[in-house]
Amino acid sequence: MTVIINPYDRKGIWLRGSFHNHTTNSDGHHPLSTVYRMYHDYDFLGISDHDLITEHEGEHTIGTVFEAIEVSSSQTHMLLVHPPRSLMDDYSNEFSITNYQRLSDICIENGGLSILAHPNRFFSHYWRHEDMLSMQRYNGIEVVNGDGNPEYDIAFDKWDYLLSAGRRVWGFGNDDSHVYGQEKRAWNMVLTEENTNGAILTAIREGSFYVSTGYGFDGIRVEDGQIIYDLRSSPLYDKMYKYVTLIGKDGCILHEETGRINQVKYTVKGDEGYIRIAVYLEGGFGAFAQPIFVE
Ligand SMILES: [Zn+2]
Ligand SMILES: [Zn+2]
Repeated sequence: MTVIINPYDRKGIWLRGSFHNHTTNSDGHHPLSTVYRMYHDYDFLGISDHDLITEHEGEHTIGTVFEAIEVSSSQTHMLLVHPPRSLMDDYSNEFSITNYQRLSDICIENGGLSILAHPNRFFSHYWRHEDMLSMQRYNGIEVVNGDGNPEYDIAFDKWDYLLSAGRRVWGFGNDDSHVYGQEKRAWNMVLTEENTNGAILTAIREGSFYVSTGYGFDGIRVEDGQIIYDLRSSPLYDKMYKYVTLIGKDGCILHEETGRINQVKYTVKGDEGYIRIAVYLEGGFGAFAQPIFVE
């Protein structure tokens, strides 16, 4: 019997946020108060300086803020969201699977998230396939990093690699903002019961979010063996072209559709392994949902 696991099968509200952003506490160009203003209309925001936990302080209009840290060896970077402060006891950014897994475990055991950052940053900080497989416990990888170098910032190939190897890891979108102009390029839309740290972390852990670079979904449902993607719809959006690709195990293209559409339906065959969707609105604005696993 085919079981279709839909991570969006829950009631809630959609909230927008980014977990990976820098301040002058590391190599960001702006102090925390300025970063708060850059993201004044976000529902949630994480501050993730290199190798230290920046404390949230001062006024802001963001619903929920997260402490975070970017573990930054000279090889790979790893984003930890909601780590305990005790992470800094015996802290080292040395890259070894043992050390990175230890830090990842401490954060996950605190109810936080562990995300492999910008896995394709080839000029220095990238994740090798074997290292991503050697790491046993993390929540996901950054599939879109907003740094501004498409050839280094996009990592859907590595996501398909991990998913095809049987790893259940989620895709994240984050700005990795350091300066003005890098804000609001890539973010996460989370379907959560309420705007609190706990509710957002729970929803993310269960894969109830998607990555956006400007477009989105109104909902993702499974009915009678069929996945129904309701693309974000409005009288204006409905006049625009959409470019839709459904992708399965080993990066196989399962379905493609183009047109002035606001819904995509796909009947599950049972051997897909997983099904994920990439949608582009004309102009290049994208939305990328989490995999729906088929067992
Ligand atoms: Zn980094
Ligand atoms: Zn960063």
